[in-house]
Amino acid sequence: MGKALIIGCGGVASVAIHKCCQNSEVFEEICIASRTKSKCDALKNELEGKTKTKISTAQVDANSVEQLVNLINDFKPDVVLNLALPYQDLTIMDACLATKTHYIDTANYEPENTAKFEYKWQWAYREKFKEAGITALLGSGFDPGVTGVFSAYALKHEFDEINYIDILDCNGGDHGYPFATNFNPEINIREVSAKGSYWEDGHWVETEPMEIKREYNFDGVGMKDMYLLHHEEIESLALNIPGIKRIRFFMTFGQSYLTHLKCLENVGMTSIEPIMYEGKEIVPLQFLKAVLPDPASLGPRTVGKTNIGCIFQGKKDGKEKTYYLYNICDHQECYKEVGSQAISYTTGVPAMIGAMLVMNGTWQKPGVYNIEEFDPDPFMDALNKWGLPWIESHNPVLVD
Ligand code: NDP
Repeated sequence: MGKALIIGCGGVASVAIHKCCQNSEVFEEICIASRTKSKCDALKNELEGKTKTKISTAQVDANSVEQLVNLINDFKPDVVLNLALPYQDLTIMDACLATKTHYIDTANYEPENTAKFEYKWQWAYREKFKEAGITALLGSGFDPGVTGVFSAYALKHEFDEINYIDILDCNGGDHGYPFATNFNPEINIREVSAKGSYWEDGHWVETEPMEIKREYNFDGVGMKDMYLLHHEEIESLALNIPGIKRIRFFMTFGQSYLTHLKCLENVGMTSIEPIMYEGKEIVPLQFLKAVLPDPASLGPRTVGKTNIGCIFQGKKDGKEKTYYLYNICDHQECYKEVGSQAISYTTGVPAMIGAMLVMNGTWQKPGVYNIEEFDPDPFMDALNKWGLPWIESHNPVLVD
């Protein structure tokens, strides 16, 4: 079918690349390009001989539009799958525009020096992508990603109108460290130390970090504490789900994680303000990232399951109804299959699926779109096929 250029070679990219190599009919050829080429080469060596997908590698600084354009012109991919960091979204979109190549990512743009992520920067590319005749699919991970697909599916098949969405992200995994993050520590800590917020009656309601706590009994995991966070898909779902009154996002955290985070915050280690240290400028959070366990190293030691999904409340044929769609994923099974834990797996699989649907034309429409703006059915089928089967409940316990 075609060629994909994959940018980044971290935890999420590694899973997406394994999945592309399982899906060689679609991904005939891939180029893995990242800042550290040796990581790309190591993955290529691991996969070559076990897949029909032809793999090449390249070094690229994704902050440089010029380097990206040269790479795209050399490799001539049908799609670019951006699995680097949110800071690189706009330069990669610029390079896609310059070369008229479709674009897919899993996280919205965030300027490196302000911990504030929102879609406005990427939505500003809409007209340019339309004029160029290329598609940008934003947020094709799990959350954002599958949560948007679940919302579109619920709206299409289960409801006339959805009024309330609660997105519940539970990681029941245990890696045995007192403190470690399951994906890029810098991005993860920026997200969880920010103020919380949710969407209600047409506007944002802001909370202090971790101010709102609930307990939920998760299928496959059990009872967990979860906390309300701001999360990027709330912004697009608030626009794309007609009749919506409230959207909240909850994530589970263990007590050890929270105690360590509080302590690190209190001593200033989570700050993104540069400081001078022995004559050199350093960012405390980036230094912290350097001393924490690499998320990629958690795979062999993480046991337990994740359960991520959405609880919907709304109306069908004039009657109130509730509906819950979720996926349960087992850390050790993921590790056996692709050598990564479930957090990378639950993001990397949807990234491959999004790239596949854009590449094979199922989801092409010129412009910049969030995932819930496409027909959810082919994506839902692909989730079942590629390792993230979904479960539905028509009688879920609600979050108060
Ligand atoms: P990692 O830190 O493990 O990987 C990031 C990769 O990007 C690394 O290979 C890194 O290179 C590379 N990179 C960073 N800067 C550049 C640059 N300037 N040029 C080229 N390559 C660069 O992160 P994750 O794999 O955990 O996360 C990847 C993305 O997925 C992030 O955007 C994250 O926010 C998103 N994500 C989305 C989720 C969802 O559900 N939607 C969930 C989890 C993550 P190097 O190896 O040299 O460091």
